[in-house]
Amino acid sequence: MEEDSNHWHKGGGYLVLLVVAIFLFFGWRIGLADKGVVETDGEETAVSSPISSQQNPDGATAFSSDQAPLYDFSTGDLPVFNDTGLAPQPNPHTYEGKLPHHEFETYTVERGDTPGTIAEQFGIAVETLLGGNARLSQETTLLQPGDVLIILPIDAVLHEVQPGDTLESVSEQYDIPVEDIIAYTDNNLEFPYRLYPETNIMVPGAKREVVIWQPPTVSSSGGSGLGGGIAPKIVGTGTFQFPVNNRNFTQFYWYGHPAIDIALGEGNAVFASDTGTVTYAGWNTWGYGNLIVINHGNGYDTIYAHLSGINVVPGQIVYKGNVIGYTGNTGNSSGPHIHFEIRIGGNPDDPCWYLGCG
Ligand SMILES: [Zn+2]
Repeated sequence: MEEDSNHWHKGGGYLVLLVVAIFLFFGWRIGLADKGVVETDGEETAVSSPISSQQNPDGATAFSSDQAPLYDFSTGDLPVFNDTGLAPQPNPHTYEGKLPHHEFETYTVERGDTPGTIAEQFGIAVETLLGGNARLSQETTLLQPGDVLIILPIDAVLHEVQPGDTLESVSEQYDIPVEDIIAYTDNNLEFPYRLYPETNIMVPGAKREVVIWQPPTVSSSGGSGLGGGIAPKIVGTGTFQFPVNNRNFTQFYWYGHPAIDIALGEGNAVFASDTGTVTYAGWNTWGYGNLIVINHGNGYDTIYAHLSGINVVPGQIVYKGNVIGYTGNTGNSSGPHIHFEIRIGGNPDDPCWYLGCG
């Protein structure tokens, strides 16, 4: 009996100790919360966060996602925190920038105009025509009578502001000092020089970069293995012939267009301009549609775009005048025509210089 009774007393003692321990523990937790201590990992946050945000409104506590259940977002009432510890400092100098204000002369394209003649007429560089009309470098936009072009008053690029653009990023993009962009008064740029998407700013002295597609690199080891390209198997004559039996030029070579375009109905024969090795024959996602590239083994490549049909395969040798495909209207093309490029050392050159377009 005594043993049992002792045992009971001992057990009761342990129980009291346990209750005291629990009180001590929670007391300590509340104390922590009052000091603004934030724990972000696991269950501990669930215990301390409600306490800190309800009982300690001006403590330096951080908000965690664990606090969200305290508020009923479904009512549409947003939680109001009195805690200003993390609130952005109010800015007494509210900035309202001015938007750029441009007034540009326009020109309506007439039959027979070329980018060169239009630029000359207005005393600007031909690059500036592209500077004011970015779409002119796109193959879809031929210089058609009736097209309205923006004529910039000075040699410059009219830059369409993209989200994330800053004065510095635009300055770097065109390699033009920020001072020059600020100095152009119609840009309306005032400190702190904020740029607004969907507006345009003038970048004086800049040239719009024309990005050109590059054919696959040619391997000197031969074969057409994965990633290897195709080595030239034959050397061309060094002279070139027209790729089609037609001279209806719709666009010549200029800064914004590294080719000549010749309008011609679908299905007309396209000839190899010189002897060479086919290095590309197929669909091209750049906008060329069905495309053939011939490497002439002497530094020259010729490019034939927007085809309706292709007669050759990569690696095939073709001779000057061979029918390699048929004219079409594939890719970024606004009507059946062939887009023909001559490149030397990878750089576009004026095909008319070789063919004589006059
Ligand atoms: Zn073209």
